[in-house]
Amino acid sequence: MQKSDILQAWKGIVAGRRPSLSIEVTRECPLRCPGCYAYEPAHLGGLVTLRELNDSKGDELVNGVLRLVDFHKPLHLSLVGGDPLVRYRELERLMPHLVQRNIFVQVVTSAFRQIPTAWKDMPRVKVVVSIDGLREDHDIRRKPATYDRILKNIDGQRITIHSTITSQMMKRPGYLDEFLAFWAPRQEIEKIWMSMFTPQRGATDPEILTPEERRRAVEDMTRLRRQYPKLEMHDAALRQFLNPPKNPDDCIFAKTTHTVSADFKTKITPCQFGGDPDCSQCGCMASMVLGAVGEYRVGGIVPVKSLFQASFAIGKLFEKEMPDSEPAQPKPQSRAEAA
Ligand code: SF4
Ligand code: SF4
Repeated sequence: MQKSDILQAWKGIVAGRRPSLSIEVTRECPLRCPGCYAYEPAHLGGLVTLRELNDSKGDELVNGVLRLVDFHKPLHLSLVGGDPLVRYRELERLMPHLVQRNIFVQVVTSAFRQIPTAWKDMPRVKVVVSIDGLREDHDIRRKPATYDRILKNIDGQRITIHSTITSQMMKRPGYLDEFLAFWAPRQEIEKIWMSMFTPQRGATDPEILTPEERRRAVEDMTRLRRQYPKLEMHDAALRQFLNPPKNPDDCIFAKTTHTVSADFKTKITPCQFGGDPDCSQCGCMASMVLGAVGEYRVGGIVPVKSLFQASFAIGKLFEKEMPDSEPAQPKPQSRAEAA
């Protein structure tokens, strides 16, 4: 993140805008990953689930995304899902419009299908592919987006890998070394990012890292980023994993990101996880990076976080709601979708 980006984000916050917008562009995903937060019953607050939401296709989807972007005027847009490539035709139509708007666009996908080749040369467009562990684990967790399929679908591309570290991975010494030894040398891979599994409060998922596993994951990444420069995890951000935000109010990422679900109306709060995430065990890389930015002291004295907090308070006075934001209506499920 450049100083100019922070300055621009700060100006937007004072004007009542969040610099980052994340949209779940579809409720559909061909995968059924264990531990996926998007399909948890509480993700959208408990009244409706992502699979029941009234989502869009075709012109309605293209126009819906552009309407949100033009209203919120973000600097950074994440297109997530479900899997956004379920709607690849719409995304192919959308991308030139988003590029024209001069914003950073990130598409987060499992790469279950080929990534459109035109995106590679588009300015400020990044494709992030989720790869969860070594082949033997990933292929079970993320079928049908297996290693072989991903390798075929990213051929000739420039992508970023995002991997979520789980307790199971940290039970095997050298796991992250093996993972990086496989992916880092490949020319399609530009950067590698890592998060850790973030549970809901009170959850007991097997993916939850113990404090000792979390500490070891940080040590491993600190060592490995020197060996593999593509591992874009700076020391200051890595330290934040050991001291995550205390609550959503303390989380710069949650406060700077507006997250909207597939009906383009339902807000996901307090952050992209929805529900009641356990901030004390947060493993979200974006939250850690912004946490590290918040620790930076302007002029060696004032932490950026204090300036942001004051700016959020001012921005609250100017914040506007989308005119038609209303509670989501569940869509009746077809027999195929309910299967
Ligand atoms: S690919 Fe993403 S949205 Fe789909 S099930 Fe897996 S984690 Fe959930
Ligand atoms: S990103 Fe992490 S720290 Fe921030 S609100 Fe969500 S769970 Fe809490």
